[in-house]
Amino acid sequence: MTRNLNLNKEDGLIVVNTGGGKGKTTAALGILLRACGYNLHGVMIQFIKGSWFYGEKESFERLAPNFELLSLGKGFVGIIDDKLPFEDHKNAAKKAVERAKIEVTNNKNDIVVLDEINYAVKGKLIRVKDVIDIIKIKNKNLDLILTGNYADSKIIALADTVTEMKEIKHAFSSGKLAKKGIDY
Ligand code: ATP
Ligand code: MG
Repeated sequence: MTRNLNLNKEDGLIVVNTGGGKGKTTAALGILLRACGYNLHGVMIQFIKGSWFYGEKESFERLAPNFELLSLGKGFVGIIDDKLPFEDHKNAAKKAVERAKIEVTNNKNDIVVLDEINYAVKGKLIRVKDVIDIIKIKNKNLDLILTGNYADSKIIALADTVTEMKEIKHAFSSGKLAKKGIDY
């Protein structure tokens, strides 16, 4: 069978992965893995993670030069080991928004993932208007993926595909720690 890797550049989609169950970031990473097969290009910008090691940092070395990971967050906000002032998280998120605007208008990119951006809105690091602005200015045929629970209703209204991950069970609840390669 011959492979057909030719793509028609259609209008880009806005995809939202939200909900309380596991899989929002993983599903976005899965799309990039799939898109690599068509030699598509783009970036994943992480709005929250940023300061410690996790598997996908290494994996992106293997998706290069097609996809790049930009960890612009300062770690989780407001949890026990978060010693950073709120303003620092806000500044980091603001920079991530500015970078997102550059990436969604860069003709080199086919897909841009804004990972955990919904949390950044929910946690008031950025405004929902920032996300709407990104959606409005993006290249017409660029696919945009937004992850994180608590997706704002305005973003859901603008999106084409919205999936709510629903927790049936999570190992964490039975005392099993987050696992390398599965959770981070
Ligand atoms: P993943 O990165 O595994 O796809 P996610 O993006 O859906 O998860 P986040 O809200 O970004 O979930 O959570 C980040 C971390 O919390 C990940 O390590 C993830 O595995 C873990 N996690 C996700 N959902 C749950 C849950 N329902 N209970 C406990 N831990 C969770
Ligand atoms: Mg996530």
